[in-house]
Amino acid sequence: MTDKTVAIIGGGPAGLAAARLIKLRSPEATVTVYERAESSTGTFGFGVGLTEATMRNVTSADPEMAEQMRQASYVGHNLVLRSGAREVHLHGARNLAIGRATLLEVLTRLTDEVGVDLRMGTKVDISELTADVIVAADGARSATREGLQEELGVTVDYGSLHYMWCGADFAVENANFAWRSNGDDLFVAHAYPYAEGRSTFLIEADETTWASAGLAENDRAVQPGESDWRSLELVETMFADELRGRPLLANRTRWSRFPTVSLQRWSAGNVVLLGDAAHTAHYTIGSGTKLALEDAIALADALAEHDEVGEAFAAYETRRRPGVDRFKHLAARSQAWWTSFRERMTNTPEEIALSYMTRAGNIGVSDYAREYPDNARVALEHLGDAPVGDLDMLDDWVLSRPLAAGALAAPSRTLSDADLPAQGVRRLQWSDTAGGEQATRELCSCPEEVVVLGGDDDPRAVGARIDTAERVRWKGRHTVVVEVPTALRSEAAAAVATGRADAVILTQ
Ligand SMILES: Cc1cc2nc3c(=O)[nH]c(=O)nc-3n(C[C@H](O)[C@H](O)[C@H](O)COP(=O)(O)OP(=O)(O)OC[C@H]3O[C@@H](n4cnc5c(N)ncnc54)[C@H](O)[C@@H]3O)c2cc1C
Repeated sequence: MTDKTVAIIGGGPAGLAAARLIKLRSPEATVTVYERAESSTGTFGFGVGLTEATMRNVTSADPEMAEQMRQASYVGHNLVLRSGAREVHLHGARNLAIGRATLLEVLTRLTDEVGVDLRMGTKVDISELTADVIVAADGARSATREGLQEELGVTVDYGSLHYMWCGADFAVENANFAWRSNGDDLFVAHAYPYAEGRSTFLIEADETTWASAGLAENDRAVQPGESDWRSLELVETMFADELRGRPLLANRTRWSRFPTVSLQRWSAGNVVLLGDAAHTAHYTIGSGTKLALEDAIALADALAEHDEVGEAFAAYETRRRPGVDRFKHLAARSQAWWTSFRERMTNTPEEIALSYMTRAGNIGVSDYAREYPDNARVALEHLGDAPVGDLDMLDDWVLSRPLAAGALAAPSRTLSDADLPAQGVRRLQWSDTAGGEQATRELCSCPEEVVVLGGDDDPRAVGARIDTAERVRWKGRHTVVVEVPTALRSEAAAAVATGRADAVILTQ
C-alpha cells in the first residue's frame, strides 16, 4: 500500500496506534482518525494494566511509542489477596499500569507527530466515508460492526456479572482484591495504582447481590451520562478501609455487564475491524488494550506488505486470530471464575490464591509452587503435606493422593474405568467450550452419585469440562471425575489441587 487513503473510526488505543503505525510503515498514505470525544481527557474508565510481554511487542514495532508509554506509566506493585485480616502476596513488579486518558494523550501526540489528520469531536458513520481502507476501531459497542452484522457474523454475549469502573484519589500500596459481604450482598473490589495519587477501583456484584442490594433500582434512577451515586455511596461504605475513608472517583460510572464480542470475519469489503470492535476479552485478565495495540501492529504490517486490500486484511486476520482466540479462552474462564466468586469466599486466602492463579488453565500447581512455595504448601494442606520443593514431583503427588468421596474410594486421584462403581455412575460427553450451564444442570439433577465428564481433547473443551465439574461439586451431591488427556496432566493436577474435580481419568 503506498498512496491509499485510510479513514479510522475511533481514537482509542487501537485507532490511534494503527494510525501512527500505518503512517510510519506507509508514509505516502493519507490517514485520518475520527474521534467523537473532544479530547483524550473526555474518555471513560480509569487505569489499565499492561504486561512486560505487551511492552516488548510494542517496543519491537515502535520503540518510540513503547518508550513514551513507559515514561507515562506507573511501574511495579505486588498483588495482594485480602480476606479479613489475612493477606496473600502474589507476583511482584512485572506489570505497568497507565491511566487511560494518559495513554490516549501519549498516542494522540505520537499520531499527530507523524502527520495523521486527527479530527477530535467528530462522530462519523461509515456511510459518510469514502476512503480506500476504512478501519473500524470504534470500541466494544461498535456501530460499524452493528451495521455489518451479517457480513461479519457477530455474536455478543453479556455475562451475568455486574461491574462498576471507579477510581480513587490515592495510589494503593499494592494491587489488591478484597471482598465484603453483608447478608446476601457480596461486593468484590479489584484495586491497583496507575499513577501517583490515582488507583483503579473496580467493583463487582453478582446476580444475587444485584437483587439483594437493590442495584437494579439504583441503576434505573441513573440518567444517561450520569454516575450511579447511590451505588457508589453503598460501595464506599463497604470498602471504607480499603478506600481509607476517601470517596470513590466516578466518570459516568454506573453498573455494566461485560460484552464478549466474537466475529466470524474481521473484515467486509474495504472495512476492517480491530481492537474491541473485533473482539473483547474479559477485563479480569487485563488484556483488551494489549490486544488492541497488537492488532494495530499487525494491521499496519499487513497493509504495508500487500498492495491488494483484501489480501492485507486476510494476512492481518491470519496473523492475529490464534493469539486473540487464546486470550479470549483464558478470559472466558477468568470471567467464569469471578462470576462464581461467592462459592469460594469462605475458602482460605491461600486456597483462593491457588485457584485464582490456575483459573484460566495457563498456570499449573508446580508453576505456582515455584514462585510461592509457602502459599502453595498451605493451599495444598487439604491433600496432605505437599513436597512443594520438588517441583518435578508435585503434579504426581497431587494425583497420587487417596480418594474417599461418598461411593467412591480409590488409592489415588488418577482413576481408570475399573475404579468406578458398577452402578450409580452417570457419564456425560461434553465438548462445548462455552458456558456449560446445561451440562451443570443435567448433572446436578441426576440421581447417580458419581459423575464422569468426558469429551474432546482440545484444551478449551477440557477447561470447560473442569469448570463444569467444579460447579457440580459445589452442590455437594456428587463425586465428580473428569477425563483429561495425558498431555494436559498439569491441568488435571490443578483441577484436583483446587477442588474443581475429585479425581481424573487420564486419557491418550
Ligand atoms: C472495567 C474495564 C477494565 C479494563 N482493564 C484493562 C486492563 O487493565 N488492561 C487492558 O489491557 N485492558 C483493559 N480493559 C480493556 C480496554 O479498555 C479495551 O480493550 C481497550 O480500550 C480497547 O481499545 P479500542 O481502541 O479498541 O476501543 P476503545 O478504547 O473503546 O476506543 C474506541 C473509541 O472509538 C470512539 N468512537 C466510537 N464510535 C465512534 C464514532 N462513531 N465516531 C468517532 N469515534 C467513535 C470512542 O469514543 C472511543 O474513543 C478494561 C476494560 C474495562 C471495561
